[in-house]
Amino acid sequence: NGVTLEQVREYVWEIPQDGEMRVPARVLASESLLDEISDDKTLEQLQNTTHLPGITDYAICMPDGHQGYGFPVGGVGAMDAENGCISPGAVGYDINCGVRMMTTNLTYDDVRGHERELVDSLFANVPSGLGGGGIVEAGIDTIDEILARGVDWALEHGYAVEDDLRHCEDEGVREEADPAMVSQKAKDRGKNQIGSLGSGNHFLEVQRVTDVFDDEVGAAFGLTADQIVVLIHCGSRGLGHQTCNDYLRKIEQHHQGLLDQLPDKELAAAPAGSQLAEEYYAAMNAAINFAWVNRQLIMHRTREVFERVFDRSWQDMEMELLYDVAHNIAKKETHTVGAASHSADAASGAEPRADETERELYVHRKGATRAFPAGHPEVPAAYRDVGQPVIIPGSMGAGSYVLRGGEASMDLTFGSTAHGAGRLMSRTQAKDEYWGGDVQEELESDHQIYVKAQSGATVAEEAPGVYKDVDEVVRVSDALGIGDKVARTFPVCNIKG
Ligand code: 5GP
Ligand code: MN
Ligand code: MN
Repeated sequence: NGVTLEQVREYVWEIPQDGEMRVPARVLASESLLDEISDDKTLEQLQNTTHLPGITDYAICMPDGHQGYGFPVGGVGAMDAENGCISPGAVGYDINCGVRMMTTNLTYDDVRGHERELVDSLFANVPSGLGGGGIVEAGIDTIDEILARGVDWALEHGYAVEDDLRHCEDEGVREEADPAMVSQKAKDRGKNQIGSLGSGNHFLEVQRVTDVFDDEVGAAFGLTADQIVVLIHCGSRGLGHQTCNDYLRKIEQHHQGLLDQLPDKELAAAPAGSQLAEEYYAAMNAAINFAWVNRQLIMHRTREVFERVFDRSWQDMEMELLYDVAHNIAKKETHTVGAASHSADAASGAEPRADETERELYVHRKGATRAFPAGHPEVPAAYRDVGQPVIIPGSMGAGSYVLRGGEASMDLTFGSTAHGAGRLMSRTQAKDEYWGGDVQEELESDHQIYVKAQSGATVAEEAPGVYKDVDEVVRVSDALGIGDKVARTFPVCNIKG
């Protein structure tokens, strides 16, 4: 595919800086994962991202990387917040798509025999698919409050308890959000979707813990073997999608000069400090708040469903939020910037820096998870001694993982790791390979996994075989020390859009 790769050390591959590239690029992968990553446009896209102004140290592809809109899914790019840029395509259309895990004190034995009832009740009560509305119908005033206040709004209205906020990144609110920067059209799209999974890749999965690899961290996270947990994956629905779209069009128009310098129009970026950079950042943060409320309402509804199915209160079943992690965001963060960026500064005529420095960066994580290690001030107090929880879904027929932010993540990946197994084939290819009904039947008869979906096509598009090997992705993360293995889970039942 015309991209040169050199191995730096085990699991670390580099595209050397060349031509118009401002920094080198790095792929973190084993040989087998690298083979899969090399199969689509991921490497070209990764190389393209190194042209973005102010990109620092490296453009990085996680072990689960695959091609996306302009910027690879599984990509991390840190751009200087003063002299660099912010790029909606490097955040993604589904702003703050993410996962949260809720723990319980139920065991697999408590749930066996109730799987069918549980999956039917979840499917009936958690809105999913393209239509179907949300858990809350809101007017514009309510939307604006949700966009500004995030999960604090849910707390006030009885959809959350204090601990839910404490166990969410940023306590469930991005203060930099400005609802006025989100278009009317985006708000209209979002107002009937508050508390809804959406379609396609989004899901709610009841799982059992099969392995705890690290007893100390497992205890800090409240995870034990055989325990039932719930994983919720969804994002900001039409509101986030429309916000991304709105700002892509505005940025393409107003920053044509910058666009012309980039190898791919899909990387359209607003220069740091420009009005559109500020406006996009404020709108994106509002969409982040919307997605957190979305996941919170779905979790609240899940607690109610469990109460009915098991005839106990959710408090009695200790249904507590372990953590909520974002997949698609850009955030201003302070990082120690290493030697790699200096050569790029030198090339642009600036004085090379002698030492490493602290810089404020727009860290773009697209299909990548923050993975801050123990001691980092932004890790919630409950987990500060062990590192933040990182949740890595696998597929509806494979394991998923809980990791903790690793010690090497700040040096290697701007505090990030993978976000899933990562797609192996496109949705179109998947529908040629699989038939939804067969997939469902096989999961049930071979693995006692109960799946219910709005459409058979979705099940085919999301068949376990369309994803990479999650065990291999996690093995690489663990070996590099960016996210360490804590526990593994396996599906019990799953609802999809
Ligand atoms: P994305 O955010 O890129 O849509 O998806 C994140 C990851 O979720 C995928 O890379 C895949 O590994 C995982 N995934 C997709 N569908 C399911 C599912 O039904 N159950 C579980 N546990 N994981 C899934
Ligand atoms: Mn999503
Ligand atoms: Mn996602």
